[in-house]
Order: sequence, then C-alpha cells, then structure tokens
Amino acid sequence: MTNNAMASLFEQLRAIVGAEHVRTDLGALEVYSRDATPLFQHPPSAVCFPSGTTEVQSIVNLAGETGTPVVVRGAGTNLSAATVPQLGGIVLAMSRMNRLLEIDTANLVAVAQPGLPTAELADAVAANGLLYPPDPGSRTTSTIGGNVGTCAGGLRGLKYGVTRDYLLGCEAVLGTGEVIRCGGKVVKDVAGFDLLRLVCGSEGTLAIITELTLRLVPAPAAYAVGLAYFESLAEAGASVSHVLADGILPATLEFLDSTCVRTVEGYAGAGLRTDAGALLIFGQDGDVRTVQIDLERMARICRSDGAIEVRLAACDLDTHNILEARRAVLPSLARLAPLTILEDATVPRSRIAEMVDRITEIAERHQLVIGTFGHAGDGNLHPTCVVDPQQPGALEEVDHAFEEIFAAALALGGTVTGEHGVGLAKQKFLAKQLGEPQMALLRRIKAAFDPGAILNPGKLGS
Ligand SMILES: Cc1cc2nc3c(=O)[nH]c(=O)nc-3n(C[C@H](O)[C@H](O)[C@H](O)COP(=O)(O)OP(=O)(O)OC[C@H]3O[C@@H](n4cnc5c(N)ncnc54)[C@H](O)[C@@H]3O)c2cc1C
Repeated sequence: MTNNAMASLFEQLRAIVGAEHVRTDLGALEVYSRDATPLFQHPPSAVCFPSGTTEVQSIVNLAGETGTPVVVRGAGTNLSAATVPQLGGIVLAMSRMNRLLEIDTANLVAVAQPGLPTAELADAVAANGLLYPPDPGSRTTSTIGGNVGTCAGGLRGLKYGVTRDYLLGCEAVLGTGEVIRCGGKVVKDVAGFDLLRLVCGSEGTLAIITELTLRLVPAPAAYAVGLAYFESLAEAGASVSHVLADGILPATLEFLDSTCVRTVEGYAGAGLRTDAGALLIFGQDGDVRTVQIDLERMARICRSDGAIEVRLAACDLDTHNILEARRAVLPSLARLAPLTILEDATVPRSRIAEMVDRITEIAERHQLVIGTFGHAGDGNLHPTCVVDPQQPGALEEVDHAFEEIFAAALALGGTVTGEHGVGLAKQKFLAKQLGEPQMALLRRIKAAFDPGAILNPGKLGS
C-alpha cells in the first residue's frame, strides 16, 4: 500500500470510530504485534477500537474495498499466535465492546458483547445463583469473544464440556460486511446448518462476533477436591480410567508430573509433597452429599490403584488453595528459564500414560526440560518446555522435540490442539492431522464466509 493510500485508510478509520480510537503510533503497533505466544511477532498498520456492530461493519467494508487484513482480538492471551497480524493490516481490539447486556434467569442465558472478560461474566452469573462453566486458566484476562474464537476449554471440560457447548447464539459480521444472527435464546434450533459450531473455534477467520448468547446452568451447591500421589503417571492414568469406568463423572480430574509438582511447590508453597512421580487432583460438585460420596469413592479407587497418599481437602479454603496451585503451574515453570513454550497435544484419555512416556523420552533425547500437566479426564496434556533461547541451537532442539510430540499425539489417535487453537504456531501440523481433502474443504468454507480473504488471513489453512 502506498503512503497516500495508507494515510487515506487511517483517515477513514478515524471517521468511523473517532480519532481517539485509532492508534498508529509505534508503541501501540509494538504492543499489538504480539500475543501470549512467544517467538511470533508482526506489527499491524493500525489498531482500531470499535464501540459497536455498525462500526465493525464499516471497518470490514473499508477493509474489503482496500484489500486490508483485519485481525480481531480479545485479550490476546491465546497461545497459538492466532492474533499476530502476520500480514499487517488492522487489528480490531474489542476492549470497548465489553458490556454484559442481560442475564435472563428464566431462559438460563446471558447476552454479552465479545470484549467482556470471562471472569466478569462468571462472577455476574454466580451472583444470580448460576454457573457459566467454561473455565480457562486465563479467565481473569481472557474475553468471551476470544474464548469463542478458540473454543476455549479449561478445568471443568470433562463434566461440563467446552465453550461450544454454551454458545447458543451470536451476531457476527462476515468478511463480506454482511451481519448475520445465528441461534438465540432457544435451546433447540435445527433451522439450517449449525453455523455456530463453525464460527466457534474459527479464530477470527470466518466472522467477527459482535454479540453472544451463552447458556448457563444452575450453580452446584457444593464443590470440593482431593489429592492422590502416585509413583508414576502410568498409575495415575490407570486410576483416571477406573474412576470413569466406575460411573463417576468428576467436575475436576487434573494431573501434574513430578517436574510440575516440584516446581509449583517451590513457587506457591501449597503443601504438596514433592517425592511422588505424579499428582492427580480429583474434584466433584453437586449437592453436599453427592460431593462427599463421590470424593470418597474416587479416593478409594486411587488407594486400591496403589496411590502413595490420598487426602481430601479439609475445607473450602483448602480446595481453593489446591486449585490455585494447579493454576500456578504455568507461571511457576516460567520461572525456570527465560522462555516457556506451552503446548496442548491431546490424546484419547486411555492413552495419557503412553503419551507422557513418549514426551519424557523425547525430552531426554533432546536434553530439554519439559514439564507435563493437564486435564486428565479430557486427555488434554500441556507439555511445557522451559529453555534459554540464547543457548546455541536450543530453539531448533525445541522445534524438533515438539514436532515429535505432535507426531506422537497423532499416532495415538489424538490432535495437535485440544483447546489452544492452531494460529500460526501449529499451522504446519494442521494438514498432517486433517489431510488434503479436509484442508481444501476448510478453504472453501473460508471463501464462503470471507471471499476477499481479509479476516485473519494466513491462519487455519487460508
Ligand atoms: C496463563 C494462561 C492460561 C490459559 N489457560 C487456558 C485454558 O485452561 N483453556 C484454554 O482453552 N485456553 C487457555 N489459555 C489460552 C487463552 O487464554 C484462550 O485461548 C482464550 O480463549 C483467548 O481469549 P482472548 O480473549 O485472550 O482471545 P485472543 O487471544 O485475543 O483471541 C483468540 C482468537 O479468537 C479470535 N477472536 C477474538 N475475538 C473475536 C471475536 N469477537 N470474533 C471472532 N473471533 C475473535 C482471535 O482472532 C483469535 O484467533 C490460557 C492462556 C494463558 C496465557
């Protein structure tokens, strides 16, 4: 784009959203050149902060006329470089579109703008005795628009599912500039293709969501967790299978390998023992009696599977502290070295132990520190590599190791991403998982929503 064309684009953006809501200064371009994913960066030409659907539509129309890429962004906490504007263009930051529009207790739904932080939604519905179950570890910062963009999961996925299971309706601007409304407050709706499912997890490549209708559930009366330490992750993995085979559907079933337990204990001082091979955190919610019965059943199963020690949280504060320790795994690992690379290879849960063995072997062969934790009930592992990028050859070694880790996940019938998305970071693995016919279908679907290929171009195979 020539300088004149660029100046004219900026002028028109200012006319749409107001001069104070367009940033083209180097500071802003630097901030919006990255997200939470290390090693990926590219500056946009401008950052715009729209206040509503009409402004989003006008920006998309302008982008279409000028062939300018538009990368929509929530809080930028994604871990796949999904919001890095690798082809430049306009970053559409949704932070001004952050209102909770309605909590409808009769229909058990919330209606909100996409820039609303996940935790603000969860707290507001909790005050009405309701629960919004998707619970990503980033919830205090991430937005619900971003959660839909990546179909975020979290600690409650096994029992409650993920973001797509709570998306009932949305208003969205297509790449053509058309505004569509899909779904709404009805629980059942089979009119036409399920576009909500397509948009959820589409990483800003199909449409820009401007309003969301989200399903809520009654809040459970009680919630508590327990801890089981095992000699090895294989034993912990066997217990996961036995718990589920026993007919229990836990609200929480998380595991940490020995590296993660030691690191998080050094960081958070949560009173975890550090001499075990693996830690399983199991939890249940519901009425008080069900919680107590299920926790005791799970504790019994872990003991009979050879757990070294099993204990139930003594009180709500204890439960809170155990969960906080689980949430602190990533920041604690990040203290070990200047660079932390977190991935989310996912396998059928019966194959977790095999996958962890593969990760351990790969880490040792490449002489890397990789701690693994994750959502045991979902088979969703987070192998996390901590490394000093200044060490000659270190980053190449990490690259090779993760290529082998993703290949292992696929060989075990899994996926290269369970919840973080593809973005730029996993672009090269997507075709390996989906195969060419599916890649071609993705491109045709993209062309139907966004024929000018202006929405987050270069992502999801486009
Ligand atoms: C410490 C930490 C813990 C995390 N824990 C979890 C976890 O437990 N589970 C999990 O799933 N993820 C987790 N994540 C990853 C991340 O928080 C999620 O991917 C989250 O959904 C991103 O939300 P965001 O608002 O930051 O979106 P962004 O990062 O800004 O955007 C994510 C994607 O959504 C698209 N998008 C944003 N807004 C819109 C919109 N209005 N319309 C259409 N597309 C849009 C973007 O283009 C991008 O492709 C974690 C991240 C961190 C840093």
